[in-house]
Amino acid sequence: MSRIEAEAVTVERAGRAIVDGVNLQIESGQLVALIGPNGAGKSTLLSLLAGLLRPDGGSAKLDGAALTSIDRRKLAQVRAYLPQNPRAEWPVSVERLVALGLLPQLPAFGGLPAHMHARVAMALEAADLTNHRDQPATTLSGGELGRAMLARALVGDPEVLLVDEPLAGLDPRHALDGIIRLRALADEGKLVIASLHDLTLAARYATHVAVMSGGKLAAFGPTSLTLTAALLRQVFEVDACVTGAGTPTATVDFVPQAAL
Ligand code: ADP
Ligand code: MG
Repeated sequence: MSRIEAEAVTVERAGRAIVDGVNLQIESGQLVALIGPNGAGKSTLLSLLAGLLRPDGGSAKLDGAALTSIDRRKLAQVRAYLPQNPRAEWPVSVERLVALGLLPQLPAFGGLPAHMHARVAMALEAADLTNHRDQPATTLSGGELGRAMLARALVGDPEVLLVDEPLAGLDPRHALDGIIRLRALADEGKLVIASLHDLTLAARYATHVAVMSGGKLAAFGPTSLTLTAALLRQVFEVDACVTGAGTPTATVDFVPQAAL
C-alpha cells in the first residue's frame, strides 16, 4: 500500500507561484487523471510528487517520508516517472530503451537475469512494439516513441507510477490500450497519476480526477462526482457537455457557448 501526500506544496519561479499551496492525498488503487489548461502547473506538480523537484514551501511525502529525502535508488525501485515529451537521446534499439526501465533493479554485476528478458519482451508486446524491437529508438515515429517510453516506465512493475501526458500523439487504438493498461494497474493495487488532455478517456477510466488551474488545485475527487460541466467551464473557459462521468461509455464534448 502506497500513499502520496502533498501538504501545502508551493513552487515559485520568476517571482510567481506556479504550484500554489496544493494539498492532496493519493493512494494505491487509484488512477488519478491530472487535468487542467496549459501552464496550470500539472508537470511541475508531477515532478514534485515524483521527488525530482524540491518544493519552495510545504512538503511532498511518499509513505510518510519526504520524497526528496528518500534514497534515490530505493525511490527509483518503487516509482517510475515519465516526463512530458521524452526524447531518445541516442540511437539505442527500442528493446534496449525499454530495458533501461529495469536499471534500478539490475544486480551490480553480471548479465541481464533471464526473468528480465521476459519482462522486456512482455513490455514490448503490451506496447505493440515487438516488430520494432531492433529499430534505433531515434527513428521511431512520435507515437511509437511515446509508447516505447511508456513501456520503459512500466517494465519494472513500479508500485507508484507518475506519467506526464502518456497518451500525447497516440492514435485512438493505442491511446485506449494505454489508458486501459493504466486503469488495470490501479485495479491491481498500484498508485497511478497521469496528466491527460483527453477528457473523455479521463471520464471513462480515471478513478479520480485532480484539476489544476493557475497553480492551484481546483478540485480533487472521484471522477463521477468531480468531472462536471460546471467545473470544466470554470477551469478551461469553454462550455462542455459531460455524460456518464466515471462509467465506461462517458463522453466529454466541448460545445460553442450558443449551443447550451
Ligand atoms: P502544465 O504542465 O500544466 O502545462 P507546467 O507545470 O509545465 O504546466 O508549468 C506551469 C507554469 O509555470 C507555466 O506557465 C510555465 O510557463 C511556468 N514555468 C515553469 N517553469 C518555469 C521557470 N523555470 N521559470 C518561469 N516559469 C516557469
Ligand atoms: Mg505539462
